[in-house]
Amino acid sequence: MVTRFYTHPIFLEHITPPGHPERPDRLRAIERVLDDEAFAALDRAEAPEGDEATILYAHPQEFVERVRAMIPETGIARVDADTTASPKSWQAAVTAIGAANAAVDDVFRGDVANVFVAARPPGHHAEKTTSMGFCLFNTAAIAARYAQRQHQAERVAIVDWDVHHGNGTQDIFWDDPSVLYCSTHQMPLYPGTGAVSETGVGNIFNAPLAPQTGSQAFRDAFLSRILPALDNFAPDLIIISAGFDAHHRDPLAEINLTEDDFDWATGQLMQRAGRHSDNRLVSLLEGGYDLQGLAFSVAAHVGRLMKG
Ligand SMILES: [Zn+2]
Repeated sequence: MVTRFYTHPIFLEHITPPGHPERPDRLRAIERVLDDEAFAALDRAEAPEGDEATILYAHPQEFVERVRAMIPETGIARVDADTTASPKSWQAAVTAIGAANAAVDDVFRGDVANVFVAARPPGHHAEKTTSMGFCLFNTAAIAARYAQRQHQAERVAIVDWDVHHGNGTQDIFWDDPSVLYCSTHQMPLYPGTGAVSETGVGNIFNAPLAPQTGSQAFRDAFLSRILPALDNFAPDLIIISAGFDAHHRDPLAEINLTEDDFDWATGQLMQRAGRHSDNRLVSLLEGGYDLQGLAFSVAAHVGRLMKG
């Protein structure tokens, strides 16, 4: 059984302003590192066209139309203080959703061991009715609901190790006990949410990390909080919101992880997927803004996924 890797050239055409950290070169750095012969066995597939109707699994129609109306015909339109859209951003965002949903199909069909999706724009900051933090739609949230509607998954867990709290995912599932949301993130940091006291209906587990902490604090959070929550929830599918901006080289935060930590955390989640989810594990790229830190971290993450 192989690890599938989805990406698509359209993801390079979501253009952000010069100097913006969430840039097409991030995906080029990932493609380059995965070109190594160590990844020859990766099952590369082009992301399929997404189904716009599935956006409604996590966002109301009126909001979807508002985002559509913000897409410019030329140039770059500002969506919020740090979120922008270019002419191809709609197609990129919908294709990102298509890739995530296809990854869910793949693991439920059992054709592949697990899947990594390298797409942009990212998704975890997008709330039900707000695009923000470089994100237009919440791809992970849509994929979780897609698994429930199309594959009769009863319980889906989203584990988010991006260094920023996934306020959007938390917002969407705040009162939905069928989805577990677990997050490690730096606090204080953008977007400001993610306190331990934010628990939804008992389905939200936030594990904030203090600035300048690293491997030890991250692994402690997994061992003491996230993995027990997963064992208790026994999900039918685990989705990783895989941001790599907690890497020590990242310019947007002050958490000092190394690629070994992502290797370790991936292994822990694979073990839980084996225990509860018939190995169903889908990983979706979120942040990660230092190109070398991102590339090495993705290599460690995908290398671990491929070990089955
Ligand atoms: Zn982030």
